[in-house]
Amino acid sequence: MRIAIYSNLGEASNIVATSLKNQIEKSSDLVIDGLNPEIVISVGGDGTLLSAFHHYQDINNKVRFIGIHTGHLGFYTDWRDYEVNDLIASLENDNGQSVTYPLLDIKVNYPGGGSADIGLALNESTLKQISGSMVADVYIKNQLFESFRGDGLCVSTPSGSTAYNKSVGGAIINPRLNAIQMAEISSINNRVFRTLGSPLIIAPDEWIKIVPKSTHRTILTCDHQVITTRKVASVEFRISQKRIAFAQYRHTQFWRRVSNSFIGEVNLDD
Ligand code: NAP
Repeated sequence: MRIAIYSNLGEASNIVATSLKNQIEKSSDLVIDGLNPEIVISVGGDGTLLSAFHHYQDINNKVRFIGIHTGHLGFYTDWRDYEVNDLIASLENDNGQSVTYPLLDIKVNYPGGGSADIGLALNESTLKQISGSMVADVYIKNQLFESFRGDGLCVSTPSGSTAYNKSVGGAIINPRLNAIQMAEISSINNRVFRTLGSPLIIAPDEWIKIVPKSTHRTILTCDHQVITTRKVASVEFRISQKRIAFAQYRHTQFWRRVSNSFIGEVNLDD
């Protein structure tokens, strides 16, 4: 099986990546292949896995991901740095087992008619204004839903719901659900501008379109990347037909991961 190692530059990650590489080279079943891998092992944190996902986005339909965390427990990183031997044994006995999560599809329409498919977000996309508060009409499935005024809007995937979305008051969504949500970033609510004031979650046959109203430039992000600071006519967000696949050699219950990360040690069996 062809394996790519995608590591961050930290010292702990370097040690793990070297150990992985050495063990893969000794194995008769595994080979290092950074260009055309079947499995991508990210070594670092959730941010490293995000970068790995974007690095291999063009062959996303052919790869499965595995995350080894060398810092605190992550959401995309199931394996610990001291479990390299167990991971190698699992890779050697791989039978294609995987779990898939939804991705967010982003399309930008520019003033004057041009448009661009921005690609996929694993966590979220945000739209903000460079200066001043952003005024924008929000459509759901081509129907005007609300007129927003505030810092911006964040549209996230279920697996990204524990990232920026959570910081702006979005709900945590189990990635088994095929949905995306929109959360407000500091909305201004008064008699003129009135928004829902809570996150909303849309179904697979729906989409969200945001139409900025002012002449100011906006900043559109996709995960850790700034996509454009050009003026946009509108941005459309849909649940992608594509999904990200993780090799699943063992299962960590999603809500256990959430409680371990944000609440601390609790016993969910009680
Ligand atoms: P960063 O600013 O270096 O790190 C952002 C933090 O978000 C890191 O602690 C990262 O975990 C964590 N994270 C990433 N994906 C996550 C997920 N799905 N669930 C829970 N935590 C997650 O930026 P980065 O490492 O390049 O990551 C970009 C992401 O940062 C964006 O997609 C956005 O979600 C997030 N972000 C959050 C805020 C906020 O909460 N106020 C603001 C801007 C961006 P690791 O330490 O394990 O890498």
